[in-house]
Amino acid sequence: PRVSGSPRHVTARVAPLGSRLVLALVEDRTRERQVDAVRRDFVANVSHELKTPVGAIRLLAEAVQDASDDPDAVYRFASRMLTESDRLSRLIQQIIELSRLQGDEPLESPVAVSIDEVVGAAVDSSHMNAAAKDIAVIVEGEKGLKVIGSEKQVTAAVANLVANAVAYSEPSSRVVVTRKKVDHAIEISVVDQGIGIPEDEIDRIFERFYRVDPARHRSTGGTGLGLSIVKHVAATHGGDVRVWSVEGQGSTFTLTLPEHPQHEGMPFISATPH
Ligand code: ADP
Repeated sequence: PRVSGSPRHVTARVAPLGSRLVLALVEDRTRERQVDAVRRDFVANVSHELKTPVGAIRLLAEAVQDASDDPDAVYRFASRMLTESDRLSRLIQQIIELSRLQGDEPLESPVAVSIDEVVGAAVDSSHMNAAAKDIAVIVEGEKGLKVIGSEKQVTAAVANLVANAVAYSEPSSRVVVTRKKVDHAIEISVVDQGIGIPEDEIDRIFERFYRVDPARHRSTGGTGLGLSIVKHVAATHGGDVRVWSVEGQGSTFTLTLPEHPQHEGMPFISATPH
């Protein structure tokens, strides 16, 4: 049972009912403290991450002022300001997205979500980046599959996986998105032939702001938040996300989500996080 309220008050109330409730209370307080620590950490990281593009934009603005009689230099600095401000707005958008998902709370009103539409939207959103690198994004597998959940969240998760596959692939390679039904779950796999992930870092890539190679990361324009969004979406849907990767050969990310019961009148079973 969840016990709320101030500890002294609640302890007094639950003590006669036995040690199980007291234990639940202690666990609750421990979890609260952990959540607080994670939140403090997050705020510190966010401030640090925001300072970088803001600092860069400021320096570039000063450079524009100094180079006012050199139109080529002004154009160059202004282009870099645009890149940095795009990065800044992506970062802010992902921070907002992630903070909405923070609690891993079960979804309030899940609906049937069409995987064809989700994958279509994810592929469309990476179209420009894929075209710029001559990468073919191919969709395979079963059509007409549906998961139960939030269309917005599932689309954000799949779009992040496809965007990463494109960002960390070599030019002129292939990214394949496959969807299939396994028991009562739907698996969406994104396979790339890209740079892969070193074995000793693979456990860390779902952490917020973690990047394998921060230097390369700047050129891909990533925020370091994409995979933690994917992880939280999986958790809020009662699903999971797994990764296989060989450095230099490519990676496969598989997002598994509960299937929507296709038959009319079938009782809805709500998805709870593990
Ligand atoms: P980013 O915005 O940096 O892509 P993510 O949270 O999406 O942040 O990913 C974290 C890190 O995991 C990336 O910086 C990259 O080092 C690594 N990564 C993610 N997806 C892939 C992939 N498909 N291939 C290789 N490395 C990847």
